Amino acid sequence: MDCFINVILPIPLEKSFTYAITQAEAEFLKPGMRVSVPFGKSKIYTAIVFNVHNEAPLVYDAKQIHQILDDSPIVTQEQLQHWQWIAKYYLCTIGEVMRAALPSGFILESETVISKNNEIVINDEDLKDDEFLIYEALHHQSSLKIQDLMSILDKKNVLPVINRLLDKNAISVEETVYQKYKPKLVRYVKLHSQYTSESKLQDLLNELSRAPKQRHVVMTLFSISATTKKPVKVSDLIKDGDASSTVIKTLIDKGVFEAYHIQHDRVEFSGKDNEHSKQLNEYQAKALDEINQSFKNQNITLIHGVTSSGKTEIYVKLIEEQLKAKKQVLYLLPEIALTTQLVSRLQNYFGEKVAVFHSKYSSHERVEVWNNMLRNSLKAQIILGARSSMLLPFQNLGLVIVDEEHESSFKQFDPAPRYHARDAAIVLASIFKAKTLLGSATPSLESYYNAKQGKYGFVELKHRFNNVLMPDIELVDIKDKHKRKRMNGHFSDRLIEEMTETLKDGYQIILFQNRRGFSPIIECNTCGHSPQCPNCDVSLTFHQYKNQLRCHYCGYNTVMPKTCEACGSVELDNKGFGTEQVEEEVKLLFPDHNVARMDLDTTRGKYGYEKIITALEQGEIDILVGTQMLTKGLDFRNVKLVGIMNADNMLNFPDFRAHERSYQLMTQVSGRAGRTDKRGKVLIQTYNPYHKILQQVSTNDYEQMFNEQLNERHDYKYPPIYRLIKITLKHKDYQKVDVGAEWYAKSLRTVFKQHVLGPEFPPVSRIRNQYLKNILIKIPQKQSLSKTKEAIIKINNSFFSIKDFRAVRVILNVDNY
Ligand code: ADP
Ligand code: ZN
Ligand code: ZN
Repeated sequence: MDCFINVILPIPLEKSFTYAITQAEAEFLKPGMRVSVPFGKSKIYTAIVFNVHNEAPLVYDAKQIHQILDDSPIVTQEQLQHWQWIAKYYLCTIGEVMRAALPSGFILESETVISKNNEIVINDEDLKDDEFLIYEALHHQSSLKIQDLMSILDKKNVLPVINRLLDKNAISVEETVYQKYKPKLVRYVKLHSQYTSESKLQDLLNELSRAPKQRHVVMTLFSISATTKKPVKVSDLIKDGDASSTVIKTLIDKGVFEAYHIQHDRVEFSGKDNEHSKQLNEYQAKALDEINQSFKNQNITLIHGVTSSGKTEIYVKLIEEQLKAKKQVLYLLPEIALTTQLVSRLQNYFGEKVAVFHSKYSSHERVEVWNNMLRNSLKAQIILGARSSMLLPFQNLGLVIVDEEHESSFKQFDPAPRYHARDAAIVLASIFKAKTLLGSATPSLESYYNAKQGKYGFVELKHRFNNVLMPDIELVDIKDKHKRKRMNGHFSDRLIEEMTETLKDGYQIILFQNRRGFSPIIECNTCGHSPQCPNCDVSLTFHQYKNQLRCHYCGYNTVMPKTCEACGSVELDNKGFGTEQVEEEVKLLFPDHNVARMDLDTTRGKYGYEKIITALEQGEIDILVGTQMLTKGLDFRNVKLVGIMNADNMLNFPDFRAHERSYQLMTQVSGRAGRTDKRGKVLIQTYNPYHKILQQVSTNDYEQMFNEQLNERHDYKYPPIYRLIKITLKHKDYQKVDVGAEWYAKSLRTVFKQHVLGPEFPPVSRIRNQYLKNILIKIPQKQSLSKTKEAIIKINNSFFSIKDFRAVRVILNVDNY
């Protein structure tokens, strides 16, 4: 019988792809193994086997696979099932999910890139036909791969052409071999076995008495291995023994030492794992009990626990239970909260059973975690990770914890799959018949609504640990302060008073400003012009530290002009303000104190964020100015005052979630104040102190916020009452986007009637030279989600069958956040 496999290719095409295999291969291959397969005229891809079967494709002849790459599956059945759900729910291809899930180290390919040499001009007459074809193609595309050349010339052997073009200096060639996974090798040394007996060793030391350096190194090796009882690294020997690598080499050459390697994990734990988990207080114990009760008849439970109520310690107890039952735990967190404090806290309890997984990891590190999970290794029992960690190969998942479940960063925006990690993790848990615990001090309206509806279990924790009081929140009316000349720059007299007091008592301060940069916008006082990004439809932001104007959308930057580019006036003024300006002003107001800033600009690089956190923890910083990065689950002992510089720009943000988000942000950042015995203080500066959200923040009234917001969502047909799908059209030609979006929206209206909004240009309607236009579909609860999506896909397909629209990119975003 003929044998075939269907495979998943890492590309955004809908169809599944069938390849022919031999009988023997059919017996060997299993879903989840990798094979390399030919695709199109000359491409080769790494593919994942989806299933093995005997049905020949109807419309084409199946090609043979090239090669089998694995002895056993590297993708599990559960993953394949999960990927299918993600693709279907979030309207993308399973290939796109595969690409997001697999570390790039698993998709091996070697590609040569060819680009045009712009230094010299070549006359067309000097080129042979095939050379001309390539050269011409490089006018349109800055670089080509070997495979592209093969398809342009329609032949396999393209090396001669490349050589000729190289001889003519027309092109340059660059080899970019994608890194393969290499375990990190650490060098060790030990005494050669012939010297292990005491007398032999004594002889050796006598022998070496005329080579004191070598003798010293031998002695050091001896003492290190005696104290640590572990293999001795060459690097340690160099460090502890004052040895040079030459001396060690001499000893190896002489046969005194033996060198060897042990494969070491890059992602290695280096902490103490001897800590016992904490004894819960009565409130925590009660909450834990309620969670366990709730799990008896609910798969998903939400815990609403105020900041610093000790949720993490409850999670720790739940994790302990899972480990006892030999089950894995997935602990999801927003990227930024992952870096320091929590990781070491969990490692102190669980040691190397904790595997951390986040976007700053290299491909090597990802492969390592992946492989540990495939083996269900002891090192992969607790996966602590950002959103993409729910795509890892779990073997035996028992519990998912989604901490800070309200965080919008759980939603992936670009590229596809545009999944929400909280929701996709719930599905993952259900595949494993595992439980999910969502936790937050400020739950999303979605989850709280689901809990109210009885869809989720619900547990509350209203007491801060140790009975620390909730911070005292004071609203400062800066309109009034301005009128009465009580402002110094962006600081009210109240804020300055409180800051002075706090510093005098030796406590620390956090100042929150929801924007980075010096002052977001520069405006000419004479003509009103403000410098714009040439690629995007936004004003540039002034960064004083580099004296630059920068675009926060595409990264474009230029020096700050001295005069207005429109009218030449020198009166350029700042409008609004960012973290950098706050930092400047603080330094002038409190010159004797250490000020630091935490925002995207100061936390680049692998450990940028950690450095600032550590400096704050160690008391090197008195005042930390920052953006919302400050809000993510940090636990600082010594911060007593939090100042929110301006609440209004959050509240006025043009988004239906602006009020919910403002409540969450302000409550979370307030929660950083006074985590120990002293009651914390929060000052919120605003032009509008009677705003309902500000009142609710200051009285800590989540319930009231929820009820009011829910009413609005009801009235204006937004989540969680309605579901949303956002459709974005994108192209560099304004006209194409405009006409295409009209067509698209009109077609949608024939099906969804008044539930279609737009098309509308977003506030920033051009990014990186691409115009954007949005259409929003609101889906009532009774309306079938799958039917809705079918209808959208149908319209989408007709859209692309129109020639004029084919080049337009369409982005479908389900549950748009
Ligand atoms: P949350 O996650 O709710 O904000 P945390 O779990 O971070 O709260 O707890 C706040 C602080 O209280 C932490 O420093 C934590 O170590 C401490 N803590 C919480 N529960 C206990 C406990 N049962 N025993 C001792 N310390 C605790
Ligand atoms: Zn001007
Ligand atoms: Zn830009």
